[in-house]
Amino acid sequence: MAQQWRWSKREVCASLFFFVVFVGIGPLWSAETDWQKIEHEAGDLLSRYLQVDTTNPPGNEIAAARFWQEVLAKEGIESQVFESQPGRGVIYARLKGSGEKKALILLHHLDVVPAAKADWEVDPFAGVIKDGYVYGRGAIDCKGIAVAQFLALAALKRAGVSLKRDIILLGTADEEAGGQHGAGWFIEQHAEFIADAEFLLTEGGGIRVHDDGRRSYDVDIAEKAPCWIQLEASGPAGHGSRPLPETAVTRLVRALERIVRYETAIKVTPAVQAYFAALAAGETPERAARFRSLEKSLANPAFRKEFLANPSFNALVRNTISPTVLEGSNKTNVIPSHARAQLDCRLLPGEDPKKFVTLLEQVANDPNVKFSVLMNFSPIASEADTQLFRAIRAVAERHDPQAPVVPAVLGGFTDSHYFRGKGIVSYGFSGLPIAEEDWRRVHGVNERLALASLREGIQILSDLLLELNK
Ligand SMILES: [Zn+2]
Repeated sequence: MAQQWRWSKREVCASLFFFVVFVGIGPLWSAETDWQKIEHEAGDLLSRYLQVDTTNPPGNEIAAARFWQEVLAKEGIESQVFESQPGRGVIYARLKGSGEKKALILLHHLDVVPAAKADWEVDPFAGVIKDGYVYGRGAIDCKGIAVAQFLALAALKRAGVSLKRDIILLGTADEEAGGQHGAGWFIEQHAEFIADAEFLLTEGGGIRVHDDGRRSYDVDIAEKAPCWIQLEASGPAGHGSRPLPETAVTRLVRALERIVRYETAIKVTPAVQAYFAALAAGETPERAARFRSLEKSLANPAFRKEFLANPSFNALVRNTISPTVLEGSNKTNVIPSHARAQLDCRLLPGEDPKKFVTLLEQVANDPNVKFSVLMNFSPIASEADTQLFRAIRAVAERHDPQAPVVPAVLGGFTDSHYFRGKGIVSYGFSGLPIAEEDWRRVHGVNERLALASLREGIQILSDLLLELNK
């Protein structure tokens, strides 16, 4: 059973007092706010949400959309559930403001990537809470973020804050597979629901807690673009007992071998240079100097080796290629007539996908191996000189005066591009402080979110919403 937490009258009064004292922009939380209770409510909600299995494929996000509809209804917030395809759900809710300012969207996705239960310490869909963490597939990506967004919004509603702008809570299906049946579908079919939005916040960036404890507020203003490619080879079929010199499988393996050995060029884009220049503030003088002129520094073999050994850094300075899917025969003794592989390639902003595919065809050097593009879009960057960015900076200065606020480029991609395409300034900033060690578990095993991170994230996000109410 969920324990429902409500503020007492005294708590609401105390909060409103603070609210008035800070001319409507100060911290929403009073000294008397019971953080244990908030943590408990957040942990309980996340635990229950993680038990709604939305592994994509098939997704079944409609169950998550209905879960949120019920949670929102208990909070007195009306919502709408959309079904893009049977079983694929989108949840949409709007907290009304005066309309003085344009709307803000809090966006999360309802689906999660698969989890191999046998590799986990706990059941990935049981919502286990232990040692101060909530464990489960999606704890960080993106169910914990959804819980923080909801409770930040609920905090404003519970405190009776009068909003100057509408706040839209939007949960989408299918993000992990590209979003065509979620955000992409919603933007295509129901663009009028977000037509008045100016800003959007979603996953991607957040408060990065580095291994040495230092923090940075990473705000993703741009993303690399996916270019998912399929390679298909063909050749004579036959019996495995009579090997043939050239088959679909041998051709494909050779082409892949050439591609895997190929090293893409290093390019430092202006946005990436700005990101490392901002990160330099917290580095040793020697490393800071390297970061400030990254392109030149990468000519130094020792620094280059050390820098590229960090997979996240490596992904920011080049187009990347990850072979992921392999398909040949499903019988050991059958030589198949077709073999397929898929590559997850990610391109830097400004790259031409067509040119990249042509380059890979040349590298593979076998006209029998056919290339086709499965998914691709052109990335658009959001500008960093906005009220939303300044609001994040103001909140960071209050919570973490030492932490740099960094406009960043995300190595992966989120649903942001659909909204950037509609002219909405979209940032990847979850508001949750997350340790590097926990980041590394996302899409891996034993994904977890610290209850303390959840609590602080709710505080930071609600402060951010108030700051935007200025
Ligand atoms: Zn995600």
